[in-house]
Amino acid sequence: NVAVANDDVYKGHDMLAPFTAGWQTTDSNPLVIEKSEGSYVYDVNGKKYLDALAGLWCNPLGGNEARLVAAATKQLNTLPFYHSFWNRTTKPPLDLARELLGMFTANKMAKAFFTNSGSDANDTQVKLVWYYNNALGRPNKKKIIARAKSYHGSTLVSASLSGLPALHQKFDLPTPFVLHTDCPHYWRFHLPGETEEEFATRLATNLENLILKEEPETIAAFIAEPVMGAGGVILPPKTYFEKVQAIVKKYDILFIADEVICGFGRLGTMFGCDKYNIKPDLVTIAKALSSAYMPIGAVLVSPEVADVINSQSNKLGTFSHGFTYSGHPVACAVALETLKIYQERNILEQVNSISPMFQEGLKAFSSSPIIGEIRGTGLILGTEFTDNKSPHELFPPEWGVGAYFGAQCEKHGMLVRVAGDNIMMSPPFIMTPNEVDELISKYGKALKDTEAKVEE
Ligand code: PLP
Repeated sequence: NVAVANDDVYKGHDMLAPFTAGWQTTDSNPLVIEKSEGSYVYDVNGKKYLDALAGLWCNPLGGNEARLVAAATKQLNTLPFYHSFWNRTTKPPLDLARELLGMFTANKMAKAFFTNSGSDANDTQVKLVWYYNNALGRPNKKKIIARAKSYHGSTLVSASLSGLPALHQKFDLPTPFVLHTDCPHYWRFHLPGETEEEFATRLATNLENLILKEEPETIAAFIAEPVMGAGGVILPPKTYFEKVQAIVKKYDILFIADEVICGFGRLGTMFGCDKYNIKPDLVTIAKALSSAYMPIGAVLVSPEVADVINSQSNKLGTFSHGFTYSGHPVACAVALETLKIYQERNILEQVNSISPMFQEGLKAFSSSPIIGEIRGTGLILGTEFTDNKSPHELFPPEWGVGAYFGAQCEKHGMLVRVAGDNIMMSPPFIMTPNEVDELISKYGKALKDTEAKVEE
């Protein structure tokens, strides 16, 4: 096995996912969403859509959770803003940090730092691990290893970490301190006859070879989503995280778990780390933290890392980092109420009560001649269209199979995420069984339309 160089890991990929948040203009005739209600959103013409992606994987509580509106209103009326710089702060971020640290139990976390989004939380992670290594007197331990097909954000550093070439091209990214190792997609990348465990072993060996080639003293951290979201909903093969964790531990490399999509129940466990027995040193959180009612992200830090960073003897001075809106009181008040709702309503029970229906109902379409793979767990699912059911026979991009399926979903009143010939779904947790039925039926209709189109 040869070590994986940055470029090699992109070989055999099926897509350059377009990642485009809209310029705010009506030139491109955008779909303009005006209101939401439970699991549905409505456009400006009054058309109703089942929101099968929960916004952008971020709104498990759906459209009109009155308690979150009340929490925001109360905080706005009391203290709409005060900053959290220079040892000043407000109550909501203090309460939220305590709550969050108590909820994350996969590994002990000591401190929380709030950001505005997942991207700036991941940038914060890189600064933290650099600061940590500087404090320990090892300034050369700076490189970060991420994985092909991961998504970690859109800022310069988080886009560099992301393993999607579309985010790098024409931006001179990734920055040189970011390396990428294999995407753990068994179906697409396993060798003939290779079991999931053998595949996981090979990937762990590739990771170790990359670390050795680059020299372990230069590698600061490894970052991974428990289940890759935007890269196409890619589940880790059996034993993968166990093997990868052993390697990074061996070389004193910090493990950053990016829980931005997986966190708060999406996989049927409170965090993705619980599901795959990941014991991270640092955790990135956003999206469902406030059920998207306010923008907020967070970084959780283990006691070992926190101790080094806070140590008065490190001679580096304070960790000089922060955003005007770090710990924004309204965002934190809404997030705190969101976490209360998750606990009071036993959100995990809710996810686990509807996810078998969701998974089994959609996986029943796996036999479609245009579907290569349907994969998922809990309330996240990806569909990949390929020819002859093969991971290696892709439809010509100009056929736009995925885009056509997405358009048919929209026609039938459902919104999904399309990236090339990958379709992704992550519905709100509040879906009723009837709504799950509706989702499956709309998927079925869009699939039928797409099969007919491909046959033409
Ligand atoms: N990390 C993961 C796993 C994500 O899925 C995303 C966004 O989709 C991010 C980070 C970036 O978060 P944001 O869009 O809030 O900056």
